[in-house]
Order: sequence, then structure tokens, then C-alpha cells
Amino acid sequence: QVPLKPGRSLMDWIRLTKSGKDLTGLKGRLIEVTEDELAKHNKKEDCWICIRGFVYNVTPYMEYHPGGEDELMKAAGADGTDLFDQVHRWVNYESMLKECLVGRMAVKPVAAPKEISSTLSEEKKHLNGMLPEKKALGASAKDLTPSYDWFQTDSLITIVIYTKQKDMNADLVIVDCQDKRLRGEIILGDHSYLVEVDLYHAVQEDMAVNIAEKVGKVEIILKKKDNIHWKMLGQPLESHNTLSKRMDRGLFYRKCELVSKTEVTHDTRLFCLMLPKSTHLHVPTGQHVYLKQIIAGTEVVKPYTPVLPFLPLDFKEPPCHDGACIYLMIKIYSCGLFTQALDHLQIGDYISVSNPEGNFKKSQVRTSEDLFLLAAGTGFTPMVKLLNFALTEVSCLRTVKLIFFNKTEDDILWRNQLEQLALRDERFEVQFILSQPTKDWVGKQGKISSSLLSEFVKRSRKDSKVLICICGPTPFTEQGVQYLKDLGYSQEEIHTFTA
Ligand code: FAD
Ligand code: NAD
Repeated sequence: QVPLKPGRSLMDWIRLTKSGKDLTGLKGRLIEVTEDELAKHNKKEDCWICIRGFVYNVTPYMEYHPGGEDELMKAAGADGTDLFDQVHRWVNYESMLKECLVGRMAVKPVAAPKEISSTLSEEKKHLNGMLPEKKALGASAKDLTPSYDWFQTDSLITIVIYTKQKDMNADLVIVDCQDKRLRGEIILGDHSYLVEVDLYHAVQEDMAVNIAEKVGKVEIILKKKDNIHWKMLGQPLESHNTLSKRMDRGLFYRKCELVSKTEVTHDTRLFCLMLPKSTHLHVPTGQHVYLKQIIAGTEVVKPYTPVLPFLPLDFKEPPCHDGACIYLMIKIYSCGLFTQALDHLQIGDYISVSNPEGNFKKSQVRTSEDLFLLAAGTGFTPMVKLLNFALTEVSCLRTVKLIFFNKTEDDILWRNQLEQLALRDERFEVQFILSQPTKDWVGKQGKISSSLLSEFVKRSRKDSKVLICICGPTPFTEQGVQYLKDLGYSQEEIHTFTA
């Protein structure tokens, strides 16, 4: 992110798009764009970009781009799809840039390879490719493609997915049944297998998902609304029975109800969102979800990292049935576009929540002896599940140290709980560091620095296996990584949380 000029916020952009001003210079006409034509518009003052076959005149958007003009210029006059997907594929550009749409690329579209068995020649990159590029997996990988079957009793429909994976678990299975549409996704590394059908008849709201972890079998059990015989499971949808790269799937959202909102600090709240009964979704440790709201007629999407309702070892009754709720600890910014809208949600209102994403692997912690968590502000959120996992499931850990950077004492999230945890578990230690303390603060002060890190990040023995996780504002994370490298820690010993 770069600092934007005043009057160039997302809200200002939304206002401009609603002003009726001709942003493409084509007076609302849509044209077919050749590659030659696209290439001509490659300057800051005249910049067209192609994303998934659609061409946008992004010239008026330049000053509003949170990543800066130079980032946008990398795709000037060219296909920006890959760049876009790498940096922020979750941003709903169709909605944000709809007033900048110039038209479609004038190249003939290719047919969608239905399954992953597509030949390499089909994989050629097409500028007008509306469909994601798919990688051929080769014959042996095809044997690893899951398959599915279904059967029925008088009252139930059971869909069985044979994943061919021995280490299946609930985190890897995401099922939604909305109206008559069933979507079951199985995560297989960086690929996903999808069962997606318009069901033949209606089903009841509640459903069950059973996972036979060792044999990799997943059962989705639906209750028929009427006890009649089904001739077929339903109409297959476009991505039904396919194995694809997860990146190519696009985000899937379901509406969740806000069931509670509690104060954590003066500006941070814990939101509890209840998943529909017909959804099976667990957000894995270290991963985030995207929330989507319509703000001034434009879809706005932002990432948030689910936490637990409280820290481990705090034996309170969970206020919401395990797995059925997602807890989000969110700081409300006084001029924040998304968080202001979130803060105005009432109990009982609904908000769209996406499937989880993120590249953190629990196996990184499983083999560690010393775990260091460097968090700044709400960068604390991924550390919550991580702490729970480390202290309750990783037996080889000797030390777990949280170094928590905040502006003032009032900004420290869950200070009490953290201090309690440190008293109860001798492996855990917490250090608070304030950048804007009052004169009464007797603890550490400052921002992330080489000297602070060399003081607090130390191996418990000479060659102990270390993992250092960092999360906070981008400059905090970037500086932290640099200081750690200067102190001799390797890239493999550092994990940064980013979108
Ligand atoms: P914005 O409207 O974007 O602005 C927020 C504040 O920053 C305002 O004060 C604004 O003036 C200032 N600002 C915005 N852009 C700039 C800029 N370019 N230059 C200078 N100042 C600027 N947040 C949480 O609270 N909890 C979480 O669990 C959480 N998880 C996240 C996970 C990931 C992977 C990522 C990437 C971010 C996460 N965030 C989390 C941050 C969150 O996504 C939003 O960025 C945050 O809520 C602010 O959104 P907003 O629209 O309200 O604020
Ligand atoms: P904040 O502004 O309250 O700052 C907290 C502390 O961060 C400060 O006390 C300071 O020590 C440090 N800090 C802030 N700016 C810095 C800078 N420029 N250089 C060095 N250190 C700096 O923080 P906040 O408002 O709570 O923001 C938290 C940030 O964490 C947001 O940017 C959010 O997007 C990010 N976040 C990321 C993820 C993720 O990627 N997974 C998850 C949660 C939050």
C-alpha cells in the first residue's frame, strides 16, 4: 500500500463512479479490443488493462489505486490477470471498475477444459480466456482425482466422495447447500475437487458431514424435504466433478448472521458470525476469510483472520456451538470504509463470508522447539489460533513467546487473558512493547528494531529449531523480516502473514 492523496480513498472512487462522468472516454459504448489496440494504451495518462478477457480504461483510477500507480502500470496495455491474481484476486474488480469497462478482447474464446485431463496445447494462454488456465496433471495424478457416488433411503440422500487422501480432516471439507444448490469442496494441497449440483428435489436445512480420516472418505448426508424417490441427484453445474487449482476456483460466499458483538478495547470488537445450518466450514489455523458488503452500491471485500472466543486454558463454555460460529476481532477505524459499515451492522443482520485462504502450514509448528510470535495491533489475530494449537497440540515446543507491539496500553488486545495464560503455562511468555506510551508505562517501549529483536528472540539452546511468525502493518512486517535476517535467521524460520 502507498499513501494516497487526500480525496483519493475508495469511497471517493465509488463517488466518482456514481457521478455519471464518462470514465472510459467512449460515452458508454463497448468495443472489441485487439491486442494491438490494447498495447497502444500503455501510458499513465492513457492506460488500458485486460483482466480475464475484459478491458478496462484504468486511467481515471490511477490515483485511487491503493497499491500505487507504478503497480498498475506493470500491466499497462497488456493482460494484467496474473498480476491481479497474485496481488489481490479477492478484490471485486468487476464491481469496482464497471464504469471503466471498454469492452472484450477480440480474440476467439477457447472451450473450457471440463476436467483436468486437458492436453497441454489447450493450456496456451489466451488473452481473452474467460476461463482459468488449468494445469494438466499427468496420468498418475489423474488417478489421484477424487470420485463421488450417491445413494438414498426414504428420508436421506448421501453423497460419498472418495478423496484418495489418507489424511483427510474437517478443515479440508467445505460444504454448502443453499436452496437446492449443493456445493462440496475438498481441499487437496493447492488443488480442490468440487461436487456442484442443482439438486433434483428440495432438502431440509440441516445436514451432516462425516469424514473417515484414514480412508479419506467424505459423506454428505442431506435430509429429503419430501420422502419421495429421487431419479437422479440433480443437474451438474459447470465445475461439477472437477479438480482445479484452488486459485482458479474464485471465492465462494455464504451469508452469516451476526449473533453478538462485544467490546475488546475502545476501538476493537469481537464479532460472532453464525454459519448457516447447511454449511460445513472450519477455518484452519493461520488462514483468513474475506467479508463482503455492498457499500454505496459497490461490492467491497476485505480479509479478516478468525480467532477463538477466548485463549486456551480459559475454561469457559463456548458461547456458540463449536464450528458453527466464526469469531472475528476487528478494529473499527474512525474513517475506515469497511469497518464503519461493519460497526453499523445490527445483531440479526447478515454478512457474506468467503471460504478460507492462506499459506500457513501447521506442520511448520509441529517440528519447532521455540516459537516466536511478533504481532502489531490487530496483527495479533492469526496468533490466537496459533497459540491455541501450539500450547495444546505440539509436544516438542519448549518456549512460546509473544512479542506484542501496540501504540498505547489501551490498545493491547486481550492483555488480561495473555497475562493469565503466561501464569498458567510456563512455556508461554508475553512481552508488550508500546510505541506511544504514557509516562506511567514502566514496560518496554519503541517500535520493531534490531536491538529489541535480539533481546527477545533467542534460541533456547544453540541449535534449537525455531519458527518466527510475524503479522501487523506492512512496514512492521517488512522491517521485522529484514532485522531477523540480519540477526542470522533463515527464510525457512520466518513466516509472514499477508493476504
Ligand atoms: P480503510 O478505509 O482501508 O482505512 C483504514 C485506516 O487506514 C483509515 O484510518 C485510513 O485513513 C487509513 N488508510 C487506508 N489506506 C491508506 C493508505 N493507502 N495510506 C495511508 N492511510 C491509509 N483487521 C482486523 O481488524 N482484524 C483482522 O482479523 C484482520 N485480518 C486481516 C487479514 C489479512 C490477511 C489482511 C491483509 C488484513 C487484515 N485486517 C484485519 C485488516 C482489514 O482487512 C482491513 O484492512 C481493515 O479492517 C481496514 O479496513 P477499512 O476499509 O475499514 O479501512
Ligand atoms: P496500529 O497502527 O495500532 O500499530 C500497532 C503497532 O504497529 C505500533 O504500535 C507499532 O509498533 C507498529 N507499527 C505501526 N506502523 C508501523 C510502521 N510504519 N513501522 C513499524 N512499525 C509500525 O496497528 P493496527 O491499526 O492495529 O493495524 C494492524 C495491521 O495489521 C493492519 O495493517 C492490518 O491490515 C494488519 N493485519 C494483517 C493480517 C494478515 O495479513 N494476516 C491480519 C491482521 C491484521
